[in-house]
Formats: sequence, C-alpha cells, structure tokens
Amino acid sequence: MKILVLNAGSSSHKSCLFDLSQGAEGAAPHPLWRAALDWTHQQGKVELSASGAGESIQQVLSITDKAEGIEAMVKTLVEGPTQVLGELAEIAAVGHRVVHGGRHYQQPVVVDDEVKATIQSLVPLAPAHNPANLQGIEAIAQSLGTIPQVAVFDTAFHSHMPEAAATYPGPYAWVEQGIRRYGFHGISHQYVAQRAADLMGQDLASLRLLTCHLGNGCSLAAVKNGVCVDTTMGFTPLDGLMMGSRSGSVDPGILIYLMRQEGYTADQLDTLLNKESGLKGLSGRSNDMRAVAEAMEQGDAQAKLAIEVFIHRLRREMGAMIASLGGLDGVVFTAGVGENSPLVWQQACEPFEFLGLRLKDELGRDEADQDVAAADSAVRVLVVHTQEEWAIAQACRSLL
Ligand code: ADP
Repeated sequence: MKILVLNAGSSSHKSCLFDLSQGAEGAAPHPLWRAALDWTHQQGKVELSASGAGESIQQVLSITDKAEGIEAMVKTLVEGPTQVLGELAEIAAVGHRVVHGGRHYQQPVVVDDEVKATIQSLVPLAPAHNPANLQGIEAIAQSLGTIPQVAVFDTAFHSHMPEAAATYPGPYAWVEQGIRRYGFHGISHQYVAQRAADLMGQDLASLRLLTCHLGNGCSLAAVKNGVCVDTTMGFTPLDGLMMGSRSGSVDPGILIYLMRQEGYTADQLDTLLNKESGLKGLSGRSNDMRAVAEAMEQGDAQAKLAIEVFIHRLRREMGAMIASLGGLDGVVFTAGVGENSPLVWQQACEPFEFLGLRLKDELGRDEADQDVAAADSAVRVLVVHTQEEWAIAQACRSLL
C-alpha cells in the first residue's frame, strides 16, 4: 500500500511517499520519494526539489499558482530521474497534516465536503495554516482525482485534555466561544510518545511521559497512560515556551500597555510576538539556536540572556507538566533543538536530578533514536527523531 503525505504550509510544501508494506515496526522507514516546494526562493518562481530512486533533482520553475506547483511536484513521482511509480493510480491514499481541527476532530478523518467546510470554518483560529492545508487538499483532488484523502490534525492528540487544563480563566463566555487551549504539534507528541514507549520496552498505556518538541516552534505535552493531559501551547501556537521567533506566554498586560502607550495595532502585535520575539528578539541575531549558541560562546551578552531565558522557561514548564502527570517515567526530546542539542538536554534536565533523573556522562547526537539517561537513572531520557509524515501515513492506513 503506497501512501502519499502532504504537509502544505503557506510558504512551503513538503511531501513523501511511503510503502506501508515495508517495516511498520520500530523506527520509521525511509520514504520511497521525498519532495519539497519552496515559495520563498524568488518572487514569481518556486524551487522544486525531489529525491527518489537514488537520484535527486532541484529546479526553479516559473510558477506562482500553488496547485500548479503541487502538480509539478507530484509529477516527479512518475517522470524523470526520481520516478518511483509507473502511474499515479498506484497511490492508495493521500494524508494531509491539518493544523487546526478545533473541537470537531479527535482523530484523523477521511476528507469529504463536510470535513472541508469544517476546516474552512476553523480558518479564524488558524489563519496562516488552515487555508494552506485546504488548498493542498484541493490541489491533490485536481492532480489525482477521486483518491481517498485523509486529514490528520495537529490539535487532535490534545483534544482529550481535562477541562481544567483546557480552560482559560477568562469570563465564562470564552468557554462558549471556543476560546480554550487546543494545543499543537500533536502528531509529533503522539508519535514520539509511542516511539519512546517502544524503546523503553513498555506499554504506553502504563507510562507518564513528558514530551518536549523543541524546534522553531516549541511545546511540551504531558502524556499520561497514552493520553495527553496537558500541553503548553494554547488557543494559538503562541502560548507557552519561548521559541525561535515567538515570545511564548507573556503577561497579557504588556499588550494592553503597548496598545495604550504606543498605539500598537493588532497586526503590529501579531508581528511583534510571532516574528520578532523569542530567541531572535532577545538575542537581536537569529531565531536559529545554533547561531545564538555560537554567539553566546563568543561572549555575546544578549545571546547569553536569550539562551538563559529559553532554558529557564523550558524548565519551569517542564515542572508544570510533571505536576500534571503526577510523576515521571520518561522525558522525550524531539525536533531540531531537541534532537540535536546535548546542552539543552543537560540544562533542561538538571533541576530534575532530585527525582533521580541522571544523564549519561558522555552525550552526543545520533542519527538513531537513543536513550541518554544514565543506567541507574530513575527516569529514562529519550532523544527521538520526530517522524510526522510517517505518523500521518500510518494514520491513513489505520483509517482506511
Ligand atoms: P521547525 O519547527 O521549523 O520544523 P526544526 O524542528 O527543524 O524546525 O528546528 C529548527 C531549530 O533546530 C533551529 O533553531 C535550529 O537551530 C535547531 N537546530 C538544528 N540543528 C541543531 C543543532 N545541531 N544544535 C542545536 N540546534 C539545532
């Protein structure tokens, strides 16, 4: 069974083809084919890259229409050096990452007109993402006809959170308006929690895991007996931890102050909090952890402050998640920073030594998923490479 996965964003499209008859157990298999569209490359053009059948290509195409770009990308499955299929009809289904499923979807669903209308109705909650996800669904229908399409939601894993964790302490009208904590990165949190349980040789249903997705966007999830009981992102992906260029939680009074004293508009606040804060805002350099860490090593005081705040907030929120879990069997690090930064593993874990958590003396990055806790640690610490596309492909198979 061959499943195509599409992750459609506003400025990029990423796609993979998996053969699900291969290696469903253990680590995710390599996709047969992988491709991406980068719409930020050059105005009026798109950069297409694809790899498959041991070959790779990179082309700049004069295309501005997203659907046309997706069609060109999909064609590299059946034409040219990256061809891995005789015909597109060999694809059994297409899985889409959809960012916001609101309160409607607690698991993946087969896309029909009603599902599309619901995703559309949730655009106000995810204005940057849901329109791009819908556009991806329409473009696939144009290229592949009536193939089954499945929507896998980033919010779904968090939809079983207890009301006390999901509810903001504003007026009760917010509850009725759907202003609540939805949480994001759910596909990743769910995948790495399951993978950690497999690596620990235990049943996910009997574990208390703290999963840390630390990429450009950062969030934590408290996964108790396989169910997410708390998470740091909220109504939007702006809540919670400090991130690459997002502030995470700040006193809402600051926003009122900026509006009153400096005449900030909603759009200006949006840009300030989403694009000009976090590591980038505080360091004044970059949203990239590697660049900020390098500057800190060279003695840059702002970069040092940025990383210290990042770590402080991470530890504080980890403590909050451990309280929601009521204990801790494992910590899981994933995504760009989480998979690659021994410094972050060390600093994040240090305050939890009182729980008997101890890391190995020698820490290093690995291509493979690994347990970085010392043999006698009371808590396992796993570094898991997130595989959101593979998780989406598996969700399609289970559903169909
Ligand atoms: P996104 O959320 O956009 O998918 P990623 O998961 O790719 O992002 O994470 C991007 C972040 O990962 C960047 O801050 C980058 O600096 C960081 N990162 C990547 N490699 C390393 C590394 N070797 N050490 C520290 N941070 C890294």
